This record gives sequence, structure tokens and C-alpha cells, in this order.
Amino acid sequence: MAIAVEFIQPTTWEEALAARSALPGSVPIAGGTDVMVDLNFDRSRPDALLDLTRVDDLREWAEEDAILRIGAGVSYTRLIGELGERLPGLAMAARTIGSPQIRNRGTVGGNLGAASPAGDSHPPLLAVHAEVELASVRGLRRVPVREFYAGPKENVVAGDELIAAILVAPAAGAEQFSKIGTRNAMVIAACSFALSIDPVARRVGTGIGSAGPTPLAAREAEAFLEGVLDERDGWEAPVALGEPAVNRFAELVAAAARPIDDVRSSAAYRREALRVLARRTLGWARGAV
Ligand SMILES: Cc1cc2nc3c(=O)[nH]c(=O)nc-3n(C[C@H](O)[C@H](O)[C@H](O)COP(=O)(O)OP(=O)(O)OC[C@H]3O[C@@H](n4cnc5c(N)ncnc54)[C@H](O)[C@@H]3O)c2cc1C
Repeated sequence: MAIAVEFIQPTTWEEALAARSALPGSVPIAGGTDVMVDLNFDRSRPDALLDLTRVDDLREWAEEDAILRIGAGVSYTRLIGELGERLPGLAMAARTIGSPQIRNRGTVGGNLGAASPAGDSHPPLLAVHAEVELASVRGLRRVPVREFYAGPKENVVAGDELIAAILVAPAAGAEQFSKIGTRNAMVIAACSFALSIDPVARRVGTGIGSAGPTPLAAREAEAFLEGVLDERDGWEAPVALGEPAVNRFAELVAAAARPIDDVRSSAAYRREALRVLARRTLGWARGAV
């Protein structure tokens, strides 16, 4: 039986926000690489689809006052090509997403909208303390990404809001990302980890993917590594951190995870893999640890 789905195609941001406000039950669609899978498998039957692909504003990015504002509709391919040097951690994660076809269509805005704990852009966004700009006819608000995830596949976007952009500072230091899955490409992460070491702000950032109900930051591990780098005067200089400190960092990362057993991995494997990923990314970030 054919079911009618209203298809709304705004061409301006104002029209998109007005349509979202008028039809809060509508499902926004950007690249469609999550939405179309759900429709095809009959997991979702929205009354209305709100197509955002004709809204040019969403595909723009700009740098202002040392902050990059990246429109929610910028594809992974463009992010890698145009912003890869300024956002190496996010670009590393983007390179692991799907296939070239998926990276041509898929967007960080869509990854945030879907809010899957396994989404690959979340760990690097957590590691660099990105902000998400949400908009509605009521106005704008900026939510730290660390407060964005509300539960498995849930976020804090209200029914009348759209994700407008991601705000993030260009990297001031090393950023790394590593993901484990059952093969090297076209794979949903069994777990993933992102690390940022910012010698200017003297801040360590982390992000854990696919090992908890939401993407997570390993806050104790961050504070521990900041303490070690302060104590050893190691923010700028390549001082050795030593095995005990590296092991402790890796243990604290693994301890921050809240993994479950599922089809992709056991909880125990995820925890052990995170220990490895934490050591690996720290080694890459520091040259030698
Ligand atoms: C074959 C395949 C492989 C994949 N591999 C990976 C992978 O390796 N890693 C990974 O993380 N993901 C992967 N994905 C999932 C998907 O590609 C990503 O989540 C992608 O980022 C979704 O972006 P999109 O623009 O296509 O989102 P869409 O499908 O258009 O939307 C996704 C969700 O976000 C909402 N949304 C979109 N834009 C907005 C907006 N501006 N405001 C509010 N809500 C919005 C939609 O309503 C929907 O709920 C894969 C998907 C496929 C089909």
C-alpha cells in the first residue's frame, strides 16, 4: 500500500526553520545516508521529509576570530579536502567513514542528528570541545558537544530546531583518531578513540566511540595526562612520559567506557581495545611516548 510522505524542499535557511517549526514531526534529510536506510528498511515512516540539500548556507564554512564555523551540510569529502589540515583529528575520522560515495553525501550534521554511539565524528568533536549551533524560529543556541548526546541515538535537538553548524578551533597541537572494526573499510566501529593535545591551552581532550550508550569523554584520563605534562614540562618539549604514565592513561581511558556486549563486539574486548587505542594514539601524538 502506498503511503504519502510530504516532501518539503526549502531553498533558504529561513524557509527551512519556518517549515521545521510548522511541522515539528518532519524528518530533516541531509545526505540521506542514515535516513534513507531507515526508510528502505521500514524502520521509520515519517509524515514529512524536510530536505535540506538546497539550503546553501548549510554547505558553507568560514573562519572567524580563530574559530571555524562549519555548516551542518558540509560533506565528509569536502571536510577532508578543505579542512583536513586545520582539523586533522576530525579529518582522520572522516576518512574512515563508509566509502567515497558515503563520504560524498554524508555530513557531520547528519552524524550529530543520528547521534549513534558508533558515529565516527563524535570522538574527535568531543576531544576538541566542539560546539553545536542549533537554530529555530525562536533563535540560536550553542551547545557544547559534551552536553549534546542525551542517550543512545538521542540528542538535545528540540522538535522545532535544526543543526546549523559545528564550531571548532583549528588544531593547535597533535590530534589523533583510531578505530577498530572487523575490517578496514565500510565498517561500523567496534570502538574508536580520539585524542587532542593542545599545548597552547594546555588541554588534553579525549573521545570514546561505540563503547557506551553515548559517545563519551574520558575526563579522568584527560586530567591525569595534563598533570603529567605539567609536571614534566612536556607540553612543548618531546620529554618521554614513561611506561607507568602511559599505562595509567590507557587504564583511565578504558575505565571511562561503559561498553556492552553486542553483535559487533563483547564489552571486555571493547575495554581492552580502548586501552590499546589510547596507547596507540598517545604514541602517534607524541612521536614516542
Ligand atoms: C554504507 C554506509 C556506511 C556507513 N559508514 C559509516 C561509518 O563508517 N561511520 C559513521 O559514523 N557512519 C557511517 N554511516 C552512517 C552515515 O553515513 C553517517 O551517520 C552520516 O554522517 C549521516 O549524514 P547524512 O548527511 O547522510 O545524514 P542523514 O541521513 O540525512 O540524516 C541523519 C540524521 O540526522 C538528521 N539531520 C540531518 N541533518 C540535520 C540538521 N541539519 N538538523 C537536524 N537534524 C538533521 C536526520 O533527520 C537524521 O535523523 C554509514 C552509512 C551507510 C549507508
